[in-house]
Amino acid sequence: MNNTQFIKNCIKKYGKLDCEYCGKENLITREHSLDKIISLKIPISNNKNLATTDHKQPKAKGGDLYDYNNLAVCCHKCNGIKGDMSYDEWKYLMDISNKLINDLDLNHVNYDLIKKSELFNSIESSDFKKRVREFIKNKVIKKNG
Ligand SMILES: [Zn+2]
Repeated sequence: MNNTQFIKNCIKKYGKLDCEYCGKENLITREHSLDKIISLKIPISNNKNLATTDHKQPKAKGGDLYDYNNLAVCCHKCNGIKGDMSYDEWKYLMDISNKLINDLDLNHVNYDLIKKSELFNSIESSDFKKRVREFIKNKVIKKNG
């Protein structure tokens, strides 16, 4: 199964495309008809709403590029934040980020609050910390529309 087929199947199955990682709804793709894109009132130039296909486990980390179960629809932003992470690392990052959002009751991005968190400070890698902040920002912005 290639990525285009996968996207088409997802549209057929769910009627819309949501980001599997942050939950952003109604992502657009060139597989959508122009009417659909217009009806969603999403600016095509706004790549924050572009659907991308992600290999959950990247090829470089041993992932199978042709396994349907290794594919996820996600937003452009999540795909960028995930980058070359293995699925386990990414899953861990999402779990920590979601816990921070819940524990700190974040409904807007508050870096001061995040920086004071014991959980956040227990993360050793500065790259991982940066990705957590980016994921939280993307997800919290999504929540507020
Ligand atoms: Zn996303």
